[in-house]
Amino acid sequence: MRLFSCTNCGQLLYFENSHCEQCGLSLGFISEELTLLPIVQEGDDTYRLHGRDEKTLYRYCKNHEYNVCNWLVPNNKQIDYCTACSLNRTIPNLSKQEYRQRWNVIENGKHRLVYQLLRMQLPLASKAVNAEEGLLFDFMADDETGGENKILTGHDNGVITLNISEADDVEREMTRKGMAEVYRTVLGHFRHEVGHYYWDRLIDNTPFLDECRELFGDDNLDYQEALKVHYKDGPPIGWNTHFISAYASTHPWEDWAETWAHYLHIVDTMETAYSFGLSVHPHVAPTAAHLNTDIKVDPYNQPSFDNIITQWLPLTFAFNSVNRSMGLHDLYPFVIPVAVIDKLKFIHKVCTNAKNSITES
Ligand SMILES: [Zn+2]
Ligand SMILES: [Zn+2]
Ligand SMILES: [Zn+2]
Repeated sequence: MRLFSCTNCGQLLYFENSHCEQCGLSLGFISEELTLLPIVQEGDDTYRLHGRDEKTLYRYCKNHEYNVCNWLVPNNKQIDYCTACSLNRTIPNLSKQEYRQRWNVIENGKHRLVYQLLRMQLPLASKAVNAEEGLLFDFMADDETGGENKILTGHDNGVITLNISEADDVEREMTRKGMAEVYRTVLGHFRHEVGHYYWDRLIDNTPFLDECRELFGDDNLDYQEALKVHYKDGPPIGWNTHFISAYASTHPWEDWAETWAHYLHIVDTMETAYSFGLSVHPHVAPTAAHLNTDIKVDPYNQPSFDNIITQWLPLTFAFNSVNRSMGLHDLYPFVIPVAVIDKLKFIHKVCTNAKNSITES
């Protein structure tokens, strides 16, 4: 994530801020520029950008009134929702206070996801605009009337469903423990599920399919059967030399989605480190090249994934140590084997290609 600053007073801002803590001006995010800016009220619900000559007026996205969105829409467009919120089809039942809090957590994660997809310049549209190839989100709760209806988090033909219990810390942590996972977050779910979506968009029926099968395996493998085997027998012995997680070993599609999620984790975290100008130079190992780094390049403009991964390793070792100092779980509780680096490089190539083909068309 980029680091934003108030152009009125210089205060550093979080992506989720709706007003500047220092000068008090309202803030709005402009998805066209991927930037958070102070805004000045013009009419009842219209604003202009602070410090800019342009006359364009903006409104907040309709979801601003629920405190779950700080993105703006141009006032001359006949739309209620911003780029991120226009992807919602089902939202939680807001008559329940607890569900409002969950929705807030969910939207924080989803807005960060959408920021990154826009930053990567990947094809992105709501199914309302492109029924065939678009994307939609359903945020749903299990049937609470005692019925059997359990909501499964997953992706199906451009529709990402999230069980809103994932936005409750206690429920999510219990699931994480039950599934013996080292990491489980709402943002992580979104990154994984959108990986399935982009497999359909960027791999299926494209020249990349053969190379993808060489790296991730043959996706013609019976998916339901593969899941059954995984839940009955567990991952194969030695899975960690080929896969980023045990779950990735279930089926080539899951391997792709898991590795894709890690690609997004790495690139977004590297952008944050780059925004802060972070460097890692451990005093006890001043000459070890693999432990020292200065993060001076924007990961979104890197032709080669090698430059990203060589900086990622010292950075995560430092971050994990910082988290342990606070008694927290490791920031990045994974070891990336060589085979997974090759898969990440492939994803980097596919994404770079998608970006270039959009820019050229
Ligand atoms: Zn300010
Ligand atoms: Zn919105
Ligand atoms: Zn999956």
